[in-house]
Amino acid sequence: MGKQRPETANQIDRIWQVLDGVMDPEVPVVSVVDLGIVRDVEECKQGFNIIITPTYSGCPATLQIENDIAGALKAAGFGDAEIVTRLSPAWTSDWMSEKGRQALRTFGIAPPQKGSNVSKRALFGQDPLVRCPHCDSMETVQVSEFGSTACKALWKCKSCAEPFDYFKCI
Ligand SMILES: [Zn+2]
Repeated sequence: MGKQRPETANQIDRIWQVLDGVMDPEVPVVSVVDLGIVRDVEECKQGFNIIITPTYSGCPATLQIENDIAGALKAAGFGDAEIVTRLSPAWTSDWMSEKGRQALRTFGIAPPQKGSNVSKRALFGQDPLVRCPHCDSMETVQVSEFGSTACKALWKCKSCAEPFDYFKCI
């Protein structure tokens, strides 16, 4: 990042604040920033570019997320900001912030597991170990690869018998 005029830095901070108020349409407790969808805010000749990387390609929520971001920016006086979709590097669930993961748990959704736990088990054809968001038990089992949306799988806890969504890792 080059040298910025102080007012530019302030505006970029303000844009991040606005973006942090834009919630994922499917999980309305997690912002697009905490999901790791917003990669960067860059100054450009016309104003600002908002760099986003959609979570799951073909996720129907992507278009709505773009519209929501554009709407929030316009309402905050950044109507000239442009949303730029960057597909590479591809989004990974590791980009989700700790705050985002905690919010998912509170919402009753098991957050995606990070890195090695998933890849090692996948190597042996095993499902990841997923903690029940209701009672914290690790005695859980996948019921269906498809949950309430394409991005989630349906799991069930053997300890408290509650079903829950697991936000899939990619
Ligand atoms: Zn449970």
